Amino acid sequence: MVPALETDRLSKRFRETLAVDAVSITVPRRAIYGFLGANGAGKTTTLKLVLGLLRPDAGSIRLFGNDPAQARLRIGSLIETPSLYDHLTGRENLDLTRRLLGLPTREIDRVLDIVDLRSAARRRAGGYSLGMRQRLAIARALLGDPRLLILDEPSNGLDPDGIRDMRTLLRRLPEIGDVTLIVSSHLLAEIELVASHVGMLHKGKLLVEAPLGELTAAGGAVEVRTGDLAAAERIVGEAGFAFERVDGDAPLLVRGAPPEAIAALLVSRGQSLSHLAARRNSLEQIYHRQAAQAA
Ligand code: ATP
Repeated sequence: MVPALETDRLSKRFRETLAVDAVSITVPRRAIYGFLGANGAGKTTTLKLVLGLLRPDAGSIRLFGNDPAQARLRIGSLIETPSLYDHLTGRENLDLTRRLLGLPTREIDRVLDIVDLRSAARRRAGGYSLGMRQRLAIARALLGDPRLLILDEPSNGLDPDGIRDMRTLLRRLPEIGDVTLIVSSHLLAEIELVASHVGMLHKGKLLVEAPLGELTAAGGAVEVRTGDLAAAERIVGEAGFAFERVDGDAPLLVRGAPPEAIAALLVSRGQSLSHLAARRNSLEQIYHRQAAQAA
């Protein structure tokens, strides 16, 4: 299946700042692609290039296999703070865009349901919380049923309830239809809860890109507890696996083999297992490791 988005060595310079430096990303169809990086890493600039709001200095973009200039494709987006008419209701705000796009009125109820704003739709947008405003802006981006939805920092500045509601919404979106989601964020732990794929940007350069599970599992360890951890240590050591134990109470950490192989080895050598768990890397650990390597 052709990817929803492919960029090839995309670059953009603002005077002396190379904001986007030869970035090649691939976003598979129906992915929730977490586009991560610190403030100033170049996420917004990359997304603006993809949306045609900025012109690249070099590199190319393909949307669903096509040149973006030719792709007659609606992309829904929320870049930076949503511009809403505060004196209009949520429904009226959506109606403006609906008319511009020439869509039927029922489209408004469809998107209000998706973002869970039906009950607040007749209230003025000026009285909405920040989380509701973000959701209304996403509802507007969903008008016309876009195949690609680009959201720039949708959880930025939200309170814990707002962050949880946004997470629920992001997870629900791909279930609604054939939609691919690109979500930029500097909230690594939050993206870890929703993304299927991750691309990490650092100082304009792509550090790493992979399916989330692959990234967090790579180099991870297996935690083991047995009745006799000293014996377990000897066994895994003799089998050639790397292991470590911080202190007497900590579990034994074994690297270099999947949990089932370690369990089979220990049991075959007479060990009684009381605990076995795969310990994954967090996105935060991965980010800092990759950024340090790139420095
Ligand atoms: P943030 O989360 O803070 O928005 P970001 O990862 O989206 O960060 P960008 O906004 O893309 O980063 O900015 C990347 C770099 O380009 C920064 O150093 C920024 O100052 C610079 N930059 C962005 N837009 C412009 C502009 N219009 N003119 C000059 N410099 C710019």
